[in-house]
Amino acid sequence: MSGTTRHICLLPGDGIGPEITAEAVKALGAIGERFGMAFTFAEALLGGAAIDATGSPLPEATLAAARGADAVLLAAIGGPKWDTTDPAKPRPEQGLLGIRKALGLYANLRPVKLFSALAGASTLKPAYLAGVDMLIVRELTGGLYFGARARETGVPGAASGGGPGMRAYDTMEYREFEIERIAATAFDAARKRRGKVHSVDKANVLESSRLWREVVHRLHDAEFSDVELIDQLVDNTAMQLIRQPGQFDVIVTENMFGDILSDEASMLTGSLGMLASASLGDGTALYEPSHGSAPDIAGQDVANPLAMLLSVEMMLRYSFDMHEAADALASGIASVLAEGWRTRDIADAETLPQKLVGTAAMGDLVTERLAAAKR
Ligand code: NAD
Repeated sequence: MSGTTRHICLLPGDGIGPEITAEAVKALGAIGERFGMAFTFAEALLGGAAIDATGSPLPEATLAAARGADAVLLAAIGGPKWDTTDPAKPRPEQGLLGIRKALGLYANLRPVKLFSALAGASTLKPAYLAGVDMLIVRELTGGLYFGARARETGVPGAASGGGPGMRAYDTMEYREFEIERIAATAFDAARKRRGKVHSVDKANVLESSRLWREVVHRLHDAEFSDVELIDQLVDNTAMQLIRQPGQFDVIVTENMFGDILSDEASMLTGSLGMLASASLGDGTALYEPSHGSAPDIAGQDVANPLAMLLSVEMMLRYSFDMHEAADALASGIASVLAEGWRTRDIADAETLPQKLVGTAAMGDLVTERLAAAKR
């Protein structure tokens, strides 16, 4: 990083990705002007767009651009065009998993906080949403998504009728150090919040979860005994998130459980379109909304850009230490919502028709708030 310039690698990806990336660039322009920082951008290909252009979901040039940046801002990848069950064909998701692995991004932080103006957009009754403010810390480079997997043919007894057929398997594997470092991230985060960690596993069934629990407790007792630690089974957590979401401060869990639980938790905030994330490791960090490429609404100017803008907020905080700018962006978003502006996914019965806006207009509203407050 140099002086007053920050270099950002943009990975717009597929579907709604390019639309929401444009809004992030717009907002960063206003932030740069207001806070005396120049943001420079290098756009690179990832996912389906990269497969179309190069045959690979993660071209070497993209990795080089990401490594050379001060931070990476990724929108979303994937779509039906590239869906295939043929294991020999490239898939957009390989680009996403590949860049997380290559950059060593083992910790995915997903804040789930309800904007009070959006209580009506949640599928839960407002009474159950009191105090929703949690951080999901998801392990990102281990577990089922990275373990050995295969499909075998001609396996005796695998077909219905008992003849030879196909068998497939995926492996959930964790090493001690992988559990230790993600648990440390969660305990550290809890110390800066309300001091409580739910460690979520399936230790009544899975060996990898039993090791998870053992390592988390060992680290807790040795270095973080001031933090309250609660073990919870993942099926129970799925239920508790709906029953009493206000009980959670920090949730730490393995890759797939975190993937599923954070999508579930997004509905507390009203929409997947409101959930940001930061992926941190030892080098360049990556920021991305928690949602996918939403191919069903791509190109229609209806996608919610706020998860992307909230990801920019996290980038300002975690990679650039620009807390005042991050606060300004967060309050810009809060005031636009408080004034009643809504994209379709967060609109409710109270939304005035003239306050229903598209992707670009929502981005403009937030950007205007940033510029308006110029000193
Ligand atoms: P998705 O998150 O793309 O969409 C789920 C639903 O939420 C859809 O109805 C969509 O319209 C809506 N939605 C998502 N983001 C929104 C936004 N910003 N504003 C308004 N509505 C929004 O999940 P999916 O449909 O299961 O997957 C679509 C594609 O995205 C698949 O190819 C999948 O593999 C990929 N995907 C990518 C990522 C990623 O890039 N990190 C994550 C999840 C899924």
